[in-house]
Amino acid sequence: MNAVAEQAARRRTFAIISHPDAGKTTLTEKLLLFGGAIQLAGTVKGRKASRHATSDWMALEQQRGISVTTSVMQFPYNGCIVNLLDTPGHEDFSEDTYRTLTAVDSALMVIDAAKGVEARTIKLMEVCRLRDTPIISFVNKLDREGRPPLELLDEIEKVLGLKCTPVTWPLGMGRDFKGVYHLLEDRFYLYAGDKHRVSEIETVDGLHAAGLTERFGGVYQTLLDEIELLKMAGTGFDLDQYRTAQQTPVFFGSAINNFGVRELLDGFTRWAPPPQPRRALVAGGERTVQPEEPAFSGFVFKIQANMDPKHRDRVAFLRVCSGVYRRGMLLHSVRLNAPVRIANALTFMAAERETVDAAYPGDIIGLHNHGTIAIGDSFSEGENLRYTGIPNFAPELFRRVVLKDPLKAKQLSKGLDQLSEEGATQVFRPITNNDIILGAVGVLQFDVVQYRLKDEYGVDCVFEPVQVHCARWIEADTVRQLEAFVDKNETRVARDHYGDLVYLASSAVNLSMTQERYPDIRFLDTKEHG
Ligand code: GDP
Repeated sequence: MNAVAEQAARRRTFAIISHPDAGKTTLTEKLLLFGGAIQLAGTVKGRKASRHATSDWMALEQQRGISVTTSVMQFPYNGCIVNLLDTPGHEDFSEDTYRTLTAVDSALMVIDAAKGVEARTIKLMEVCRLRDTPIISFVNKLDREGRPPLELLDEIEKVLGLKCTPVTWPLGMGRDFKGVYHLLEDRFYLYAGDKHRVSEIETVDGLHAAGLTERFGGVYQTLLDEIELLKMAGTGFDLDQYRTAQQTPVFFGSAINNFGVRELLDGFTRWAPPPQPRRALVAGGERTVQPEEPAFSGFVFKIQANMDPKHRDRVAFLRVCSGVYRRGMLLHSVRLNAPVRIANALTFMAAERETVDAAYPGDIIGLHNHGTIAIGDSFSEGENLRYTGIPNFAPELFRRVVLKDPLKAKQLSKGLDQLSEEGATQVFRPITNNDIILGAVGVLQFDVVQYRLKDEYGVDCVFEPVQVHCARWIEADTVRQLEAFVDKNETRVARDHYGDLVYLASSAVNLSMTQERYPDIRFLDTKEHG
């Protein structure tokens, strides 16, 4: 094995998906605690405290240092290097979450035992399914009365369409939560003593070990009955099925009490896939890039602005897909077809923002730039290689931009171009007038854009409601078909930042009628970035 292959094989790059309040932040802290990056646990809390501020972004703006370090957390565990990519807590910034999910090799799904599968989880699962991302599930808050575990598994199977294989099973629940039984190890992990310490775990080998009935009575009997049912149902853990996203191994626990977290992390580091090969467009076609290829390559999945107000710079988060990144290296920007020297790339080791010496497939590096890097950009050592699969989702909310000072039109344009390249908003320019229409997934995105236009570009503007219900990118087999459509519907057609044609439907009915009338036009709700 070459050095790159060896390093890549150790990487586990993942994100946590969950509905708000299921316990993502708490579990993140605990994973870091078990991973030895204890000092960071407090940092995550710090971010958390301000989550309910007017806008996540503005709150992050106030604590720049923290927001960077918590975007990517790296820690060693079980011989692996674990990269945990954080996703924004607020739903209005979920586009950021979707894009982050394109940069991971697997995901951890947290479910509240009392609430089961919730709306946001369903949506994020859909995004995971686009790339068949393998998922490990953690059913949290077993220290509270929740729903029966078998019912929860049933719900995951029905609602999310994933076969469940329990790896651990709860012994009791709520005040009677005593521990978990590990089905693959045939061992009990019993939780006792000080809840705030992680070392106090007693293990008992064997489902039928002596003394369990006397110690735990009814809850033990319930566990025996449930295990019996599970055995009859017969879905055993199968690494292949998990890796191909057909099956999800399920762990039970209580993140806040550290219960079940170590077992989860052990299973995760053992089974979660290392960096996977990725498809890329190259001169003359497509190819699969293997992580162990010696030449460096990667793509940008997230841009965070203004880490340092004095420099007005942005940090682009790049996922390394192949080869090695070494400090001071010249990177080739595929979109600009030009070399870019990145003087001070960042890596995300435990709590500190450190300057990176070497980063391997699966690692994330932060590239400082002044607006020359866009979401979806690929970087290589010279090969014309463009990673695909970084989706742009059709926005759901729309506003018309009205400039207060008409002389600032140029700055406005420049600001909006940059903000759309960062993924902060999407810009649509109707083909028949000079309007500028902004699209977003969450309403807070508009606040951020308005604030940043003023703060960074000196442009004062207001946003007005506009009669747009949804946007769909339009495509057809021939240019003539497309032109004919645009001709007939020109008042509702716009171009996005990249010049692609978009149909702006005035209502849901308008969209479906137009789709019926033009069967040769494809109306797409996602588009590849770049
Ligand atoms: P997030 O919104 O998904 O990041 O959720 P948090 O980690 O902030 O948790 C939401 C709430 O649930 C907080 O009040 C946590 O203290 C609480 N919580 C998290 N894990 C547990 C748990 O295992 N048991 C109980 N009872 N509460 C928990």
